[in-house]
Amino acid sequence: MLGIESSCDETGVAILRWEPDAPGKGLLAHTLYSQIKLHADYGGVVPELASRDHVRKLLPLIREALAQAGLGVRDLGGVAYTAGPGLVGALLVGASVGRALAWALDVPALAVHHMEGHLLAPLLEEDPPEPPFVALLVSGGHSLLVEVKAIGQYTILGDTLDDAAGEAFDKTAKLMGLPYPGGPALAKLAEQGRPGVFRFSRPMTDRPGLDFSFSGLKTQVLLAWQKSDQSEQTRADVARAFEEAIVDTLIIKCRRALEATGARRLVIAGGVGANRRLRAELVAAGEHDGFRVYFPRLAFCTDNGAMIALAGAIRLASGQRQDETVQVRPRWDLQSLPAA
Ligand code: ATP
Ligand code: MG
Ligand code: FE
Repeated sequence: MLGIESSCDETGVAILRWEPDAPGKGLLAHTLYSQIKLHADYGGVVPELASRDHVRKLLPLIREALAQAGLGVRDLGGVAYTAGPGLVGALLVGASVGRALAWALDVPALAVHHMEGHLLAPLLEEDPPEPPFVALLVSGGHSLLVEVKAIGQYTILGDTLDDAAGEAFDKTAKLMGLPYPGGPALAKLAEQGRPGVFRFSRPMTDRPGLDFSFSGLKTQVLLAWQKSDQSEQTRADVARAFEEAIVDTLIIKCRRALEATGARRLVIAGGVGANRRLRAELVAAGEHDGFRVYFPRLAFCTDNGAMIALAGAIRLASGQRQDETVQVRPRWDLQSLPAA
């Protein structure tokens, strides 16, 4: 299965041989091109530039992945591509190339939901989680708590009312003057921060419910930063307090979701899943409460082609495929997917 990811600012391509019991063992190649430099001057992703760059990079990356795997294009048995959610122009590049390639090779095409890709990414690791489990999907565009009864059977337990967790990292970094994209830089800075110098609230944890709201935190950080001496150490201290507030909030809601569903397994995915404090503290919470935590490797937390190849392979194995039209869905409810 060839997997193509082009929903935002990363072009990702991977090739996966289907190994139902250990999907990660079948990963033959994965290549990625990040457009970060292209968008840096603008402080955010420019959709039209993103689409054009996917056009430039996709075919070379497919060739590179085939070379890595030692395969020719005729060896492919299926083509999976991200069909949504995401930027419409960017999605159309991957979907057009993917659908056309499958048509030309006369193999099945699979239109994959990007967030299902993220959700399934931990299955590429050793000892993969089996449903039922709860998934925390924290990325640039989403903060979702999902009950996974089976693959394809998703119930959203909690969602963000405003900014996504990754978006909160990026925006907060920006207002403290860190270059785009700020999320990972802010997390790195937080490692130098001293505990307890600043403290921000844990939004929406003082009332029942599983929804998130992160935009107020940004304002708290802005006010604290403006009133401070704005030294390097202060910047690190603020970053640390901000990261602690987000991580604490996510952990409180994960614990609630596990309690509400009775699940004993927690899957973390999406770019914020790469956050070291979040990973360490969730593992500690799991040891304390008796649940197990599953993460993708760092490279598969953020966007990549491997998770798309995997989601496509799983759905093909259950007999699904896309018809001959090229369809993308910039908005697409995870709960509307068929069971796999
Ligand atoms: P979506 O998947 O919702 O469409 P996306 O694909 O843009 O959004 P991802 O690629 O999954 O998002 O993740 C990118 C996000 O992850 C960015 O917001 C980035 O700041 C955040 N991120 C990456 N690494 C870290 C980290 N170590 N700590 C915190 N946030 C991080
Ligand atoms: Mg990205
Ligand atoms: Fe993503």
